[in-house]
Amino acid sequence: TPLALNDPSLLRQAMLIDGEWVQADDGATFDVRNPATDALIARVPKAGAQETRRAIAAAASALPAWRGLLAKERAAILRNLFDLMIENIDDLALLITSEQGKPLSEGRGEVLYAASFIEWFSEEAKRINGAIIPQNMQGRRILVQKAPVGVFAAITPWNFPAAMLTRKAGPGWAAGCTGVIKPASQTPLTTLALAVLAERAGLPKGVCNVVTGSAGAIGGEITANPTVRKLSFTGSTEIGALLLEQCAPTIKRTSMELGGNAPFIVFDDADLDVAVKAALVAKYRNSGQSCIGANRFLVQAGVHDAFARRLAEETAKLKVAEGTQPDAAIGPLIDAAALAKVEEHIADAVAKGASVAAGGRRHALGGNFFEPTVLVNVPHDAQIFGEETFGPVAPVFRFETEEQAIALANDTPFGLAAYVCARDAGRIFRVVEGLEFGMVGVNEGLISTEVAPFGGVKASGLGREGSQVGIEEYLETKYVALGGI
Ligand code: ADP
Repeated sequence: TPLALNDPSLLRQAMLIDGEWVQADDGATFDVRNPATDALIARVPKAGAQETRRAIAAAASALPAWRGLLAKERAAILRNLFDLMIENIDDLALLITSEQGKPLSEGRGEVLYAASFIEWFSEEAKRINGAIIPQNMQGRRILVQKAPVGVFAAITPWNFPAAMLTRKAGPGWAAGCTGVIKPASQTPLTTLALAVLAERAGLPKGVCNVVTGSAGAIGGEITANPTVRKLSFTGSTEIGALLLEQCAPTIKRTSMELGGNAPFIVFDDADLDVAVKAALVAKYRNSGQSCIGANRFLVQAGVHDAFARRLAEETAKLKVAEGTQPDAAIGPLIDAAALAKVEEHIADAVAKGASVAAGGRRHALGGNFFEPTVLVNVPHDAQIFGEETFGPVAPVFRFETEEQAIALANDTPFGLAAYVCARDAGRIFRVVEGLEFGMVGVNEGLISTEVAPFGGVKASGLGREGSQVGIEEYLETKYVALGGI
């Protein structure tokens, strides 16, 4: 069944290389399926190193003209893209929901969030300022210029196929770079639709290239090719580490948004209404498939039982349904492997003494649907304490003191997002300062915004995306000592 798009031309089953919509050299394709129904949505090219090499070459030839435009000319084109994304929000949301599974309301939310990066960086394009530094000797001036790094590559994940692309390509294009994008194989259609809109917005050929297909082959070429000067990746720590290693011989700039294992800490003085509301968003958005999703609920003894009870009650009310159903709150997980991991984490916790306070099983809808789940009395040696579940499971752990909470929260190699619910200002500052994480939500479960720097520490990655600093990742600094004047 074809998708009911207002503009069917947004559904592309071809890649964009140097302004041409093309197939793989050997004609190979792979299937894109709806994770809610397993229905075949599209067949897209399965490309490898050769096609990637051509896309990189196209980006390199487009670079001088794109970099040479006035910032406000690039800004105007990006602004067009923002407008087109908003005009096509229904189609983009339907594509996201169809290939990724999230509820349509969240799909629309993602389009708005994705578009916000294009808008923001279209504005930032005009504010890439250099500096004049007071000279260190007479007869000399010291200038600092900013220049685009050159050709960038973006390798994006399936959980936020639109936003993870625009958060990388937005600043890249704004800075004057040209790029090669490799979307996740589960969700190439959103990226291809955005490439259609990018063309319509006026991005010249070669500025936006999209290559779909074999991650290993495409990633291998992207990382080995010396023309690529920058790689921005969002995905697992394991693949991020591999890509860093592959980038080492050509000394590429890299931005890495990797895994998380977010603690959600609730103190005795928290407003429980606020805490439960924040917990639901931080945990169940995108069925728990978010790198900043709350993975461990650490709750102080005084409110532990009340918080766990209310979280379980609210969790049980969430409607599990295909994303296109009205009121759907929890869509399917991305695939069978994701479901198996969730089951494994629950079974392990239960075997070690946890009990199920809500959900706990595959959903009656079958397929990739899983019941949103709350586990209580979870011991700290449970697998779910140490690993990102990436599913709709909320394990609740008890703690006694503030020091203990901080120690437990930091007891992970990861350091992306953390959440704290408390009222006491002194405590809030002490805890925020003690947490080894790149982002902290205080009494807030939804922290992502284009205006703030997104990123992690430790095994959660390198660099920041969004905000004023996001564009720096696509800029080189050139110092000029101007003498003889
Ligand atoms: P996830 O757990 O989100 O699927 P991955 O790290 O496996 O995380 O995938 C994130 C992105 O990295 C996807 O676009 C995927 O295709 C890509 N990817 C996976 N393996 C490799 C690889 N060996 N080289 C380059 N990219 C890869």
